[in-house]
Amino acid sequence: MNTSLHFWLTTPLKEMSNAQWEQLCDGCGLCCLNKLEDEDSGEIFLTRIACDLLDKCSAQCSDYENRFSLAPDCTQLTPKIAETASWLPSTCAYKRLAEGKPLLAWHPLISGECDSPQKANISVRGKVIHEREVGEREYADFILTEEELKLHRAEFPC
Ligand code: SF4
Repeated sequence: MNTSLHFWLTTPLKEMSNAQWEQLCDGCGLCCLNKLEDEDSGEIFLTRIACDLLDKCSAQCSDYENRFSLAPDCTQLTPKIAETASWLPSTCAYKRLAEGKPLLAWHPLISGECDSPQKANISVRGKVIHEREVGEREYADFILTEEELKLHRAEFPC
């Protein structure tokens, strides 16, 4: 096992320890948002409707240990999914490393600050509603606009 300080530069995703794998998540919460897929084009749209387990104030899962039993649609990220999932945001650390890209400057492993994703406006903290709050409304009414997505796609110097 590679235990170097900058493990993500030298250790392939599939060879990372559980601890290293978990450190890669920047806690943005974007993967915990519901998505809609256009049946014709296959295009995927992010909504501001979050999994009911997401803590809206911290953008963290409120029961990470039991998430798969409490939220059956929750997906265990794997190196293969990081490579292939079109629903992961372009800023996601797993996706970036799978694509051979560096972590972004605001990633906590780079910045050394656990709240840098919030400061960079990448986190969904305070920006979402829960599935249980949607009621009779259509999920399509909550699709994130291009302008809103720009905030999440912002690239920072690496
Ligand atoms: S999108 Fe990626 S970095 Fe963000 S919370 Fe999900 S797994 Fe973590």
